[in-house]
Amino acid sequence: MTDEDLRQEVRAFIAENLPAEMAARGKKMYHPYKPDVVFWTQKLNEKGWSAPGWPVEYGGPGWTVPQRHIFEEECFLAGCPMISPQGLTLVGPIIYTYGTQEQKDTFLPKIRSAEHTWTQGFSEPNAGSDLASLQTRAVREGDEYVVNGQKIWTSDAHSSEWAFMLVRTSTEGKKQAGISFLLIDMETPGITVRPIISIDGGHELNEVFFEDVRVPAANLVGEENMGWTYAKELLAEERTFSAEVKRHKGQLSRIKDIARTANLRGTPLIEDPHFLRRVAQLEIEVLAHEATLLRVVAEEQAGILGAAPTPSILKVRGTELVQRLGALMLEALGEAGMPYYAEKDYFLDTPDDPPGIPGAPGISSDFFFRRSLTIYGGTNEVQRNIIAAQLLRG
Ligand SMILES: Cc1cc2nc3c(=O)[nH]c(=O)nc-3n(C[C@H](O)[C@H](O)[C@H](O)COP(=O)(O)OP(=O)(O)OC[C@H]3O[C@@H](n4cnc5c(N)ncnc54)[C@H](O)[C@@H]3O)c2cc1C
Repeated sequence: MTDEDLRQEVRAFIAENLPAEMAARGKKMYHPYKPDVVFWTQKLNEKGWSAPGWPVEYGGPGWTVPQRHIFEEECFLAGCPMISPQGLTLVGPIIYTYGTQEQKDTFLPKIRSAEHTWTQGFSEPNAGSDLASLQTRAVREGDEYVVNGQKIWTSDAHSSEWAFMLVRTSTEGKKQAGISFLLIDMETPGITVRPIISIDGGHELNEVFFEDVRVPAANLVGEENMGWTYAKELLAEERTFSAEVKRHKGQLSRIKDIARTANLRGTPLIEDPHFLRRVAQLEIEVLAHEATLLRVVAEEQAGILGAAPTPSILKVRGTELVQRLGALMLEALGEAGMPYYAEKDYFLDTPDDPPGIPGAPGISSDFFFRRSLTIYGGTNEVQRNIIAAQLLRG
């Protein structure tokens, strides 16, 4: 099958299976709405497409890197709900690489079908950038670990069935050497989830408290005290995911749509040379960034591991482009970008757009939420330290 055949097949599949109101919510590119995510993941799973980056033996479709890119781009631009990245991109690969056969058999099919969605319990009140300082303890008692402590900024903890966590299993030696990687059922007694409402008014973030939570020792991934090694791999994947190229393209297309409708002293904004120059500049930067991403992913798949800190570079560049594109979108909207919509109205009632500017509601909420992109997955300041340490060393 050629790449173009695949693109046509993906388009036809989306046209046949994606309900229009779901596509409308997806095109707003705001917080994912869980019922949509579950519905769409199940549809993709029936087709064998719900784990596009996984090896065939674990249920992946066996696509090349460009084919996976085509699939993800078509889905995103059509407004398909995004498959939960915590399961698919973060913990799934850790389980199939380091997990026991039982863990693979139990968890991988349920990630692919969205029967389980996942939350990432790494950060703590005193362990963010300095993640290795984490203090949530897991003490082995017979066939169980007893977990006590607190996590924070835990995205989707309130709506996820399972958590993958970093816990302290030893205080001997270097702090990195006493951390383990544990899978925890969020229904286990002793877990309390408290919401954190972010600046956009939405609920994605939480604090999670663990009080004598008993977890089967069979839920340890890999070896005890080796969790830091697995987490570093996972975080590199999270940073590559933060390259955000699909979002950039969605944003560019929305900016152009808005500029066709918005007025600048009686002339459509799209005809203003100064505005067009700024759109063109950003589009060039997005295309260059996309070329870098494709090159890096292709090299990784071919087993060529360069010394460059590419996940950090992709993360810094990708997240900053999202914020610049968001700022230009708001500027293009002018006062039409100001209306605030509560998250529940935004998801369920699809409020009327202000006259003349389709799709304006919610753009300001999204703009404010995306300030967090340069914080999560490791702040951009810390990524710059990593880049400097690796590239400027010696
Ligand atoms: C929207 C959102 C979603 C998140 N989701 C999750 C999640 O699902 N699971 C999870 O575990 N965590 C999650 N996080 C947490 C995120 O990973 C942390 O916020 C991040 O690692 C920064 O840690 P911190 O907030 O403790 O800030 P701090 O580490 O306290 O940093 C504060 C400031 O100091 C700067 N700084 C710190 N150290 C250095 C240094 N060495 N050099 C230069 N500057 C430095 C930072 O750049 C930052 O500006 C999320 C965060 C956000 C905002």
